[in-house]
Amino acid sequence: MYNINNLLRENIKKLTPYSSARDEYQGEANVFLDANENAFGSPLAQQFNRYPDPLQYELKKRITEIKGVPPRNIFIGNGSDEAIDILFRSFCNPGVDNVILVPPTYGMYEVSANINDIEARKVLLTEDYQLNLEGIAEAIDERTKLIFICSPNNPTGNSINREDIETLLANFNGIVVVDEAYINFSRQKSFIQELTEYANLVVMQTLSKAWGLAGLRVGMAFASEEIIRVMNKVKPPYNVNESSQQLALEALANVAQVNNWIKETLTQRDRLVLALKEFDFVVDIYPSDANFILVKTTDANGIYDYLVSKGIIVRNRSKVELCEGSLRITVGTPEENTVLLDTLNNFGN
Ligand code: PMP
Repeated sequence: MYNINNLLRENIKKLTPYSSARDEYQGEANVFLDANENAFGSPLAQQFNRYPDPLQYELKKRITEIKGVPPRNIFIGNGSDEAIDILFRSFCNPGVDNVILVPPTYGMYEVSANINDIEARKVLLTEDYQLNLEGIAEAIDERTKLIFICSPNNPTGNSINREDIETLLANFNGIVVVDEAYINFSRQKSFIQELTEYANLVVMQTLSKAWGLAGLRVGMAFASEEIIRVMNKVKPPYNVNESSQQLALEALANVAQVNNWIKETLTQRDRLVLALKEFDFVVDIYPSDANFILVKTTDANGIYDYLVSKGIIVRNRSKVELCEGSLRITVGTPEENTVLLDTLNNFGN
């Protein structure tokens, strides 16, 4: 049976979190002399002399309007990379516990595991980039705390079968993290709807992709209240800075603009797939639910170097297991995609 108390690190269970000035007094006042800030102001047009809201309440309220998830079920991080690290630090005992990763997938899960001295047990995806449920079941033991599933997956672009993720959620006593960084580009439903169903589910999303805010570093985790409470306890007090909070709030008013970009990205993705298929050096293009495509070629290194020499940078994934010969290409603007295709037309000439 899943029980958060069996998963939490003892030191985290016992932890008294840092209590910031903004935690200890919440509300309006005329004179704030409680946080050792500079009372005179900032040497900027916009003032940043005050610490930001540690729990980002205004931003969460807006995210609640968009996602239908109450603030108590939302964690906001300095990018979703921070949420990944906080999950390790909350649940995994260094040198003792392990997590399951299903490569080829997003590289930070393994890096975060290594930083935290947590064994990463790798169970390769199948040839069609789906979960090997039997392999995962064999890899799980009593010290397995987390399973990371990226859907749509980076770098393969496909979505992971929903029923397989539900099988894990229903049978694994640890936490299943479903990373939906690319969900806005997908035809699949988000797992956010399943939060009420599964207490051991963490869904991660980010403002870095469809929302076009990679530079602000705002990522989200949606989970049960008890998981979110732990994550908030472990995070640095002011993990999302004031300008990021303000700008993210402002950006989240522009849903229509973002939806237009998503549509355009999908149109351009289809265009790229159709055009790339025609090249002799393209062996296969995997179906993508994301804003990038994984393209298997006869000469990944040659094409990569050629594109670099023309000032075009794609991601060379040819050294990654199950991605041999493959380049990952992000969908650009129509003009950028035209430049890419025109340049590829001259490859080998
Ligand atoms: N998850 C996946 C699958 C990603 O591809 C990325 C970024 N490349 C992230 C998370 C990190 O996102 P953020 O910018 O929110 O840290």
